[in-house]
Amino acid sequence: MAGKDLDFNSRNCWDVYKSKKDRKAIDDVAARYLDFISTCKTERQCVARILKLAAKAGFKESANGEDFKGAKVMRAMRGKTLLLARKGKRPLSDGVRLLGAHVDSPRLDFKQHPFYADCGLGMAKTHYYGGIRKHQWLARPLALHGVVATKDGSVVEVSIGEDPGDPVFTVQDLLPHLASQQMEKKLSKAFDAEKLNVVVGHAPDLESAPKKRKAGLRIEDKHVKTTLLNILHERYGIVEEDFFSAEMEVVPAGAAREVGLDRALMGGYGHDDRLCVFAALEAMLTAPAPEHCQLAIFWDKEEIGSEGSTGAKSRFTEYCLEDLILAWSPKARPSQVWLNSKAISGDVHPAMDPDYKAMHEELNAALLGHGPVMCKFTGHRGKVAANDAHAEYVGWMRGVLGKAGVPWQMAELGKVDRGGGGTVAKYLAEYGLDIVDMGPSVLSMHSPFEIASKVDLYATMLAYKAFIGS
Ligand code: MN
Ligand code: MN
Repeated sequence: MAGKDLDFNSRNCWDVYKSKKDRKAIDDVAARYLDFISTCKTERQCVARILKLAAKAGFKESANGEDFKGAKVMRAMRGKTLLLARKGKRPLSDGVRLLGAHVDSPRLDFKQHPFYADCGLGMAKTHYYGGIRKHQWLARPLALHGVVATKDGSVVEVSIGEDPGDPVFTVQDLLPHLASQQMEKKLSKAFDAEKLNVVVGHAPDLESAPKKRKAGLRIEDKHVKTTLLNILHERYGIVEEDFFSAEMEVVPAGAAREVGLDRALMGGYGHDDRLCVFAALEAMLTAPAPEHCQLAIFWDKEEIGSEGSTGAKSRFTEYCLEDLILAWSPKARPSQVWLNSKAISGDVHPAMDPDYKAMHEELNAALLGHGPVMCKFTGHRGKVAANDAHAEYVGWMRGVLGKAGVPWQMAELGKVDRGGGGTVAKYLAEYGLDIVDMGPSVLSMHSPFEIASKVDLYATMLAYKAFIGS
């Protein structure tokens, strides 16, 4: 064997995909993706969009409890989680090729009693969702997306702040002139979650104020709140009580953008984990007729522990598999299907940051532009709570990627004992299938403006395609 084959160096994907044709394909995927994350800012919006795109590609939807009909099927759960499945040449008992990724991203959620007014401002209280660094959400334009369910069973959709003509919202920050005391505090103590209140209005409703206002008498703040409630009622027909049954999500406003003079990077909200969602979707919709049955599952609730009926810990996949067996391979045993299945848990991975290299152990850190990151285990403090993928499976996956000629890298999250994290891999692993984490690396993860590489998205899509086609 030649000496150059004995050591391993990950490849720069820009060097791998350098033909005009490749570069055009990279730009095309990136453009579709930038549109996707610019217009899908919540888990519900992602699921709704994927349902549309998949329907166009011939996937037939069936509701929970209905039979799956056809060779390309899909099913949503509460509009927040979605499964796509394609029948393969082989029976289900030979196992499936499963791609999982999550459609939820960190954000600020309205509390159920959101509205109040103070100092002449109309405000909305929030409870943050997922792991945010609170200071990153201050003094920037924010949009509001969500649903309000009323007592009569109707659901009102709200989406304000994305159209250039829309108003936006913001969480204000303390001016430096008065911040000296705050500056002395530890970062974890300096920013209070109860101060993550969103400015939503300002002009008082004069109609409801006392008619005879004496000179110098202040208009009360409650009249500002009245303005807000009036607008919400006029525009959506909703009242304050309706927000008890609302899910209003405050997210960074505006479109995702190309970043850098060379436009090689992409900046935006929700790369975690919509990069993997989109790569998996593209792979599913464009892969040739499959050998094994192919599944893609887009989960909700990953950022808060995969809980609830729409999270990866739920029985949703299990129920879907029961129905797939009924439709495609009635003789297959569920355990047989699970045990013979292979999966990728698609999730983003931290890229080594030039300003925070000390947080990484360089030999085992991911580099932006070096392709999807395979991560054998996540967890924290001694691999606690990790799905540690089996060596045999990682070896098999290396073979698949090698055969497809897709550049990839092997990395772990950061230095040992510096922190940690987890993905949905361990919840699916409970069924006995083989699973490993794989997804592109990102910078500024969980921030309102995460950074990813166009070429990593492209290579990840090709990696997923090679996997589900294996
Ligand atoms: Mn993630
Ligand atoms: Mn995350």
